[in-house]
Amino acid sequence: MSSKKPLIIDIHGHYTTAPKALEEWRNKQIAGIKDPSSMPKVSELNISDDELRETIELNQLAKMKERGSDLTVFSPRASFMAHHIGDFNISSTWAAICNELCYRVSQLFPDHFIGAAMLPQSPGVDPKTCIPEMEKCLKDYGFVAINLNPDPSGGHWTSPPLTDRHWYPIYEKMVEHDIPAMIHVSTSCNACFHTTGAHYINADTTAFMQCLTGDLFKDFPGLKFIIPHGGGAAPYHWGRYRGLAQELKKPLLDEHLLNNIFFDTCVYHQPGIDLLTKVIPVKNVLFASEMIGAVRGIDPTTGHYFDDTKRYIDASSLSPEEKHMIFEGNARRVYSRLDAALKAKGR
Ligand SMILES: [Zn+2]
Repeated sequence: MSSKKPLIIDIHGHYTTAPKALEEWRNKQIAGIKDPSSMPKVSELNISDDELRETIELNQLAKMKERGSDLTVFSPRASFMAHHIGDFNISSTWAAICNELCYRVSQLFPDHFIGAAMLPQSPGVDPKTCIPEMEKCLKDYGFVAINLNPDPSGGHWTSPPLTDRHWYPIYEKMVEHDIPAMIHVSTSCNACFHTTGAHYINADTTAFMQCLTGDLFKDFPGLKFIIPHGGGAAPYHWGRYRGLAQELKKPLLDEHLLNNIFFDTCVYHQPGIDLLTKVIPVKNVLFASEMIGAVRGIDPTTGHYFDDTKRYIDASSLSPEEKHMIFEGNARRVYSRLDAALKAKGR
């Protein structure tokens, strides 16, 4: 790989800028739950390639070029997944629409975007119902990962923990296709939890602790989870988690969790990135910005966008080799289908 141009791979991007028609169709679908006569048909949603192109060129792609990232793993807007709304059929239709749009973006900009699937999860429904959509996205769309919502209830946590056999059908498919899952919740419909400020970070921390408490990776040694948003509170409280693991008679965290769990760099200030990369082994940290996402403003103390996370990695005291692992090497290792897709194009 020495002769190849190094890549900057952002493993966490969502289609947050999709044309307004998508949201309008979704609102009609939600209205149709109460009044089936007004339920829209999938064929009523028409979005042209030009519209898709425009929303990407003016937003995500413009910022990628400005900030110097090459390729984004691109999935449907997380807060719009809203798995708590309606039943399986509602989620299934919605997931298919959202995944197809991400696929079309990946076809329009094949050098810059590759898909990750949203699943048609629904509270109280067996996760194995998600497998047909998952397989379609992997086989027909060339997607390289999934987003798995540990709480399809939207902030009420009615599903069993991620270590429960409830989730095993998804894990079996993940291992079969060697794809990772980003553990990613959606909108909170619990007024106690702000979606991106509390529910997301709570869920990251909760997912990590669920894995710590259980022995999931004994059953699935090849299973790979990305815990986004810098791993929630886990890296900051690493001493607490090491201590709890010890009390629970679990192996050291390196052995118990760090062959399977990875953290992204969606941490929006320099001290946070410095802590993350100091506490967590570099092999477990993958570059991501979640741009254009939850925090869209400019940090007045730096004059730069909060979510311009590449800047923090660049400014960290990591060695060039370590930075390369975070920007590219780790993503290729964890997302093996992404690596294969890049290699097929000589990248
Ligand atoms: Zn996200």
